[in-house]
This record gives sequence, structure tokens and C-alpha cells, in this order.
Amino acid sequence: SMASPALLMRVVASAYSVAEKAATIVRNVMAAGDLGIVEKTGASDLQTKADRLVQMSICASLARKFPKVTIIGEEELPTDEVAEELIEDGHCEEILKKTCPAQYTGIKEEELVIWVDPLDGTKEYTEGLLDHVTVLIGIAYGGKAIAGVINQPYYNYEAGADAVLGRTIWGVLGIGAFGFQLTEAPAGKHIIITTRSHSSTLVNDCISALNPHSVIRVGGAGNKIIQLIEGKASAYVFASPGCKKWDTCAPEAILHAVGGKITDIHGNSFQYNKEVKHMNSAGVLATLRNYDYYASRIPNTVKQSLVP
Ligand code: AMP
Ligand code: MG
Ligand code: MG
Repeated sequence: SMASPALLMRVVASAYSVAEKAATIVRNVMAAGDLGIVEKTGASDLQTKADRLVQMSICASLARKFPKVTIIGEEELPTDEVAEELIEDGHCEEILKKTCPAQYTGIKEEELVIWVDPLDGTKEYTEGLLDHVTVLIGIAYGGKAIAGVINQPYYNYEAGADAVLGRTIWGVLGIGAFGFQLTEAPAGKHIIITTRSHSSTLVNDCISALNPHSVIRVGGAGNKIIQLIEGKASAYVFASPGCKKWDTCAPEAILHAVGGKITDIHGNSFQYNKEVKHMNSAGVLATLRNYDYYASRIPNTVKQSLVP
């Protein structure tokens, strides 16, 4: 008989189903019409009922199955008991059938850290820019993002009533990434993708210095990484603090699984051990291809303004 699948594959397979449940909650809260918006640090840093319910759902569901894994979620919530209807117990069979890379087969629960962004792109969610929204579950081992799940609850929402709404993208280093069509951006065109609701003079000066053919301004770190791996943009450039470890962990694992690269604006890789500072203080630079082209053109003045 087959040996039981490796822990990492069981965690990813569960995270897949947990992210699909999360997407249903995101859609149901919007459909019910009462978002319950709370300001966190200001008017561009919001939390809705969907952020709260989804975080409870993801964290409680994964903690029940994997009690010794460290799970870090974006939202500060009361530690009340989570309603049973929020618990997802399923997993994706297709993921369990994949072979775990040899270097990860011995991983124990205590060695994993799961970074959860229950709803990435909350500002856009409240403004009806629904396809900017993603649910992010990133899995780290030894301080590195090694696996991730990105659910896009409103993928296809402008494609008509008969289109399937929503999709789940997942990836593991050494296996690859699935649930989308890997596409490179047009050769020789420099299409920069960046924030739409957290711009600053520094963010814009950095982009100008790269002399892009065009600039796409959209919400969400997850959304921007999806656009990189689908060839809609050539570089994600965000010369500002604001992005956190739960924004980058799942996207990083998926991007790296297909040969891309994400770092801060200096070129430092991100660390995801449980003790790490949450803020990505020195910004974000990510590409599917040609990372060095963009990294070598970030102005020193921009770098000096962003302390890691
Ligand atoms: P954006 O590209 O603006 O959607 O940002 C990507 C992620 O980083 C989202 O989760 C944002 O909420 C977060 N973020 C970026 N800048 C800030 C900021 N100045 N304050 C709070 N959150 C931020
Ligand atoms: Mg986020
Ligand atoms: Mg969030």
C-alpha cells in the first residue's frame, strides 16, 4: 500500500479546500450587503466582516488538523470559539497525488509557519473592484516560503453569468504551480504593476526612473503576482513600507515555483520564520523573468529612503 502522504502535501491539500471555503465566505458577505467596515491604521487600511470571518475560518480549520503548526493571520481578533459552520475539513485529492520533493518529506508540524491574509485587497473589495481580491495562505519552512495557495474569489466575474466564478492557484517549490496559464509578459516591453490605494511620491519616483512603457495600478499583492505569472505585467514595483509577510508569503512561493523572483527593493530576500518582523519595510520588487534588469535600475536615492 501507499505510504501516507508527506505532511507538507497534506497541509497544501487542506489549504486548497480551506481557501475555497474562504472564497465562498468573501462572496456571501458581499452578497448580503453589510460589510461591517472598521478602520485599522486609517482610511486606506480597512477590515471588513469578510476579513474577520475568513481569518477565523482559515486559522481554526488548519489548527484543528495541524495543531502544532504556527499560524499567523493578519487580523487581530478576539480568541472566541469559532462557529462550526466556518470549519472546512476537506482537502484536494489531486494535490495529495503529487510527490513531495525529497528535501521536504521529513518536515514536522512544529517546523511549519503558515502566513494568512484572509482578504488581500480589502480597500478594493469595499469599492467593488472585486477581481483585485485574493485569499492568501503561505507556508514557510526554515524561514523560506515553500508553498502557497492563492484563491481569487471573483475571477471571471465580468465574463458573464455562465462563466465559472473564482479560481484557486497553488504551488510548491520543486513541484511547480497550477491553476492558471503560465505566460511571459511581451518581450522588450516594460509594464510595471503597482499599488492603486497606497501610492506616495517615492513609489511614483521609483516607477518613473524605470522608464516604463505603461503602468498598471491595481489592488492586492496576490493580484499583482497573478498578473506577473499570467504575462499582464513585467515587474511589480512598490518602493514603500506597508506590505506585510502575509501579503508576500503565498505569492512568493508560487512565483518562485515557476522561476520568478521577489525581494525587497534592495534585493534582499524575505524571511518567514515565526519571530520575524511582519512589515516588509523596504518595499517589494518582483518579476517572472528579467529580475536583474529592474533591480539594476532602482535608483540609489530610493534605496536610501527604505531601511529594511
Ligand atoms: P496594495 O498594492 O496597495 O494593494 O498593497 C498590497 C498589500 O499591502 C495590501 O494588503 C495592502 O493592504 C498592504 N499595504 C500596502 N501599503 C500599505 C499601507 N500604507 N498601509 C496599510 N497597508 C498597506
Ligand atoms: Mg494584504
Ligand atoms: Mg488582508
